[in-house]
Amino acid sequence: MSEANARPESPTVPNGALEQLQLALREQQVILDTAGVGIVFIKQRVVIRCNQRFASIFGHAQTADILGSANVSLYPDKAAFHALGEAAYPIMAQGLPYQSEVLMKRQDGEVFWAHLTGKLVNPNNTDEGSIWIVDDISAQKTSQAQLQFVLNEQNLILDNAMVGIVFLRDRIVTRCNAAFEGILGYAPGELHGASSRQWYLTEQEWVAAARDCYAPFATGAAFQGEMLLRKKDGSPFNCDVRAKAIDPTDMRKGSIWIIMDITGRKQAENELLQAHAQLEQLVELRTQELSRTVAELEQKAIEQKAAEAHIQRLAHFDALTGLPNRVLLNDRSQLALSVARRSHQTVALMFLDLDHFKNINDSLGHRVGDEVLVELAKRLKAAVREQDTVSRLGGDEFILLLPDTDAAGAAQVADKLLRAALWPIQVEQHELTVTPSIGIALYPQDGADLDTLSKCADAAMYRAKGDGRNGYRFFTHDIQAQSDRTLLLGNALRRALEREQLTLHYQPQILMATGATVGAEALLRWNHPELGAVSPAEFIPIAETNGLILPIGEWVIRTAVQQLARWIAQGMAPITMAVNLSSVQFRHANLPQLVSSILTEAALPPHLLELELTEGVAMTNALEAIAVMDDLHQRGVRMSIDDFGTGYSSLSYLKRFQVYKLKIDQSFVRDITEDPDDKAIVGAIISMAQSLGLKTIAEGVETEGQLAFLRARGCDEVQGYHFSRPLNAQAFEDFVRVNG
Ligand code: C2E
Ligand code: MG
Ligand code: MG
Repeated sequence: MSEANARPESPTVPNGALEQLQLALREQQVILDTAGVGIVFIKQRVVIRCNQRFASIFGHAQTADILGSANVSLYPDKAAFHALGEAAYPIMAQGLPYQSEVLMKRQDGEVFWAHLTGKLVNPNNTDEGSIWIVDDISAQKTSQAQLQFVLNEQNLILDNAMVGIVFLRDRIVTRCNAAFEGILGYAPGELHGASSRQWYLTEQEWVAAARDCYAPFATGAAFQGEMLLRKKDGSPFNCDVRAKAIDPTDMRKGSIWIIMDITGRKQAENELLQAHAQLEQLVELRTQELSRTVAELEQKAIEQKAAEAHIQRLAHFDALTGLPNRVLLNDRSQLALSVARRSHQTVALMFLDLDHFKNINDSLGHRVGDEVLVELAKRLKAAVREQDTVSRLGGDEFILLLPDTDAAGAAQVADKLLRAALWPIQVEQHELTVTPSIGIALYPQDGADLDTLSKCADAAMYRAKGDGRNGYRFFTHDIQAQSDRTLLLGNALRRALEREQLTLHYQPQILMATGATVGAEALLRWNHPELGAVSPAEFIPIAETNGLILPIGEWVIRTAVQQLARWIAQGMAPITMAVNLSSVQFRHANLPQLVSSILTEAALPPHLLELELTEGVAMTNALEAIAVMDDLHQRGVRMSIDDFGTGYSSLSYLKRFQVYKLKIDQSFVRDITEDPDDKAIVGAIISMAQSLGLKTIAEGVETEGQLAFLRARGCDEVQGYHFSRPLNAQAFEDFVRVNG
């Protein structure tokens, strides 16, 4: 507002005009006073006139306070004042108003923004002054600056945000940031005015988005969710979307959307999920692998244990019955005996052997025999106490160890065992009964170790068998003596043959009808220089157990056959030579050939030899026996059944045996005159033999009474002390010569 060419006013005005002027001036003053802006009249760079507003703007209470002030004082400094003058006067000189926003200074020195409009009163004469309208726009400036600041901030945010931001109005882009364009793959500005439809995969989704997103806007709520949107090139991408109406009360103002490309995050999430799944799968696999390995290891351990247990069992238990074997018995007896020694207890040891068990095995087969043994083992085990041991040594031999048991207790147990065996054992169609013989030895009186005790029990068991079987016997000194003798005889017998201690005696067999000697039974005699005469009833069983029966038996057959051949050669009328055959011999495979060759050697007709088999020998494994008998029969040799009636002959087998004669056992003959049973039995045997076409011979005939009974019943032949004792060869010859 500098006045470059200010000139003083001219006072030359007429009177009427003066009034008009005064009116105009008053009007002018009203205008000035009521104007909302400051108005000042400057002349010669001095404030000539101004309105109240102007005074107020510059910090004065009334206009008078500022009138006459230098114009320059209204500006912050002289430089600003001159700069304005230089800018304004060229324009104003053209008669144009000059407008500008400049910094001005209040009375108190405060600088403020003002909007200036200036005009020269007379553009042709600057001296006439200028009029300026001043508007304090500092407040407006401040808020504008604030707005700008906010806008700048907003732009800064928009431009630098990592998220895409878009403003939509009626679903049309009004503004968006670079990130938004970048995410969707558009060039800068390309989206302006575009429809949001572009970034939806389908029309339906776009429509659905309007429904789902815009609905909450009206309530002022924000939408937030994940969407699958489409880039410019058509590729879909996952994004997180947040949106809100700019003004919920006026939807026309549009909405602002913030999107974040979460493809990476999604991918990472998926990868994480996959990795997790893989990990879980791996863990699962590992777990399975591990549990498989564990299971395999466990299985191996079980198998190993089973194998060990099996080995243990094999080593200590009998495979057939599961009972302890000799090894375990040994352990247990050692323990039991050492306990007994310390606590002064008695221990009983039992030896149990089945009577005639061999018959079952031989006639029905080993499988049946095995089942019988298994069943019996069960019963024995059930009959004893927990602390007792029932062991199997093999075959049909069992040893029982009964700790802390005296003689009375042992007798009780033995009774129990006998009763337990009493019930028939059913194997397949066979109903079998086995009877045990039991020998008992006691610690400490009979022995101090298993070996001694079992020998004693064994000997006692043999005594039980000798005493009729199916019973028990305690070991006694008497038995001791017997077992010692058995041992002694066994040893002595080995040398008996070579030392020619064996001889044969012959007992005449008499034909009932004529009284003539029709046969001889060869009976073995053993004369030992120290032991004296030993009965065959005693030494034959020993020879059978130690195998000597084969050479001895062969010697008997040969000697008897040669003797008979010699007698016949010497002129004796031909008689039959009966030779006793042990089961061991009978079962020996080459018996028939041996017999034939002996007969051939001696040139004796085969029918003069008669082999005596006991009933048991014939019946045991009867089919095999039949075959052997058939063979011998074909060779012309005769056979008889010795001790008939003491065994269990089956009539059906008897029919098939190629036997010639039945020898009625002397036990029936002995009481034949008194005992009605024996009478009946002997009568029955004779009539059965007759019906089978067999001859009968009674042995052990000692009396006239016995003879009379036998004759009455029709017995064919007799043999016994009534006629003659067994005689040596010479005496037999004499007998035949005298008696015919
Ligand atoms: P065994 O075959 O039944 O023989 C009959 C036995 O009765 C003979 O006894 C005989 O001497 C005897 N004895 C004969 N008559 C009478 C009598 O009137 N009263 C009495 N009380 N006894 C009589 P020994 O000679 O002592 O023979 C016993 C058993 O030894 C024989 O019974 C036989 O089984 C067996 N034995 C004898 N010699 C042999 C042989 O060479 N081989 C085989 N394997 N066994 C034989
Ligand atoms: Mg005989
Ligand atoms: Mg006999």
